[in-house]
Amino acid sequence: MKTISVLGSTGSIGTQTLDVVRRNGDIQVTALAAGSNIALLEKQIREFSPKVVCVWEEEKAKELRQSTADCQITVVSGMDGLIEAATEASAQMVVTAVVGMIGIRPTIAAMEAGKDIALANKETLVTAGHIIMKLAAEKGVRILPVDSEHSAIFQCLNGEREHGNQIHKILLTASGGPFRGWTREQMKGIRPEDALKHPNWSMGHKITIDSSTMVNKGLEVMEAKWLFGVTMDQVQVVVQPQSIIHSMVEFEDGAVIAQLGTPDMKLPIQYALYYPSRRFLSGERLDFWNLTNIRFEQPDLENFRGLWLAYQAGKAGGTMPAVLNAANELAVRKFLNRQIPYLTIIDMIEESMNAHKKKENPTVNEILDAEKETYELIESRW
Ligand code: NDP
Ligand code: MG
Repeated sequence: MKTISVLGSTGSIGTQTLDVVRRNGDIQVTALAAGSNIALLEKQIREFSPKVVCVWEEEKAKELRQSTADCQITVVSGMDGLIEAATEASAQMVVTAVVGMIGIRPTIAAMEAGKDIALANKETLVTAGHIIMKLAAEKGVRILPVDSEHSAIFQCLNGEREHGNQIHKILLTASGGPFRGWTREQMKGIRPEDALKHPNWSMGHKITIDSSTMVNKGLEVMEAKWLFGVTMDQVQVVVQPQSIIHSMVEFEDGAVIAQLGTPDMKLPIQYALYYPSRRFLSGERLDFWNLTNIRFEQPDLENFRGLWLAYQAGKAGGTMPAVLNAANELAVRKFLNRQIPYLTIIDMIEESMNAHKKKENPTVNEILDAEKETYELIESRW
């Protein structure tokens, strides 16, 4: 029986991961971690019987210890606890579904302990890709993408590179989000409730806002660069509003291989958990007799400047992607708390990048210093 640890078990990806586990019935969950949702954590503990459970805040961890006193579990907290959940001895694979750069340290700790990673937490690859990919090679651990586009690319590549075939380019598809076709002038008054309405996918709040600004697609270009060893210029973003084609790979001979499906994250999650096997997955299937309309568009880099900035950050490398990502994380939090207007998210990213003195090949501490520096700059200017 395969044994996994799920970091971010109460979130959108975390709950869908546990749903896949529940449906298949042949994976053991040995550790769970979440931020503060102890009510749901308790239900998950009673259903999946993990050994270790981490709650970020110690106060909440205390409450959970009391309410689960009849269960055989260890409840831990904070970053040490998150690392303990990521490195639980019997786990073979860690599903990283926490949101944000908080995922860097536990992901590295899990890899150092020899665990495969089912990676949803893209912020870790965006900011520390050079460390993660090197470590994966050194430790011989697998990084299996959960992000739907990267899972699609991974599926398109199946076997190709083992035959010596190179990627000519990656065609990374994007829905364009709820504001596709809008001008900056029209975007001025966007409120959190407007931006939280994604046309095709149901996801956590942070990534839903990122999808609306297309910063998510920018993060995904960087994620693809690290996962598949290509340059930023080899990743072409293609808007495909229906989210039916999850991404494509063009090879040297011009052949393009695509992966298609309904927008359901359980497919990439299950593929990562069972790779290289494909299991039955219930749910809606594509009906090609009724697919009358698959359209493609070029992304609008003028009105969706966040995507353009991400290309600049990815090409600059070093600590620059960490600055873009940290500025975005803080700005999105402020926007969701109604402290700043929508377009200020992009201004905060741009000003943080302009003010930053880039460090090449940063260590984890230098990446986290860049995050802190960015937070301080934003707090001092806005
Ligand atoms: P959610 O906001 O739905 O869930 C985040 C999870 O992380 C929750 O379980 C949350 O706990 C937990 N968490 C938050 N802070 C901490 C902390 N300090 N310590 C431990 N756990 C914490 O996010 P998503 O599931 O949408 O996204 C997770 C990751 O996956 C992101 O990196 C996102 O970009 C990526 N992703 C998501 C997709 C999706 O469809 N949702 C698609 C592709 C990628 P609590 O509930 O207690 O707050
Ligand atoms: Mg995605």
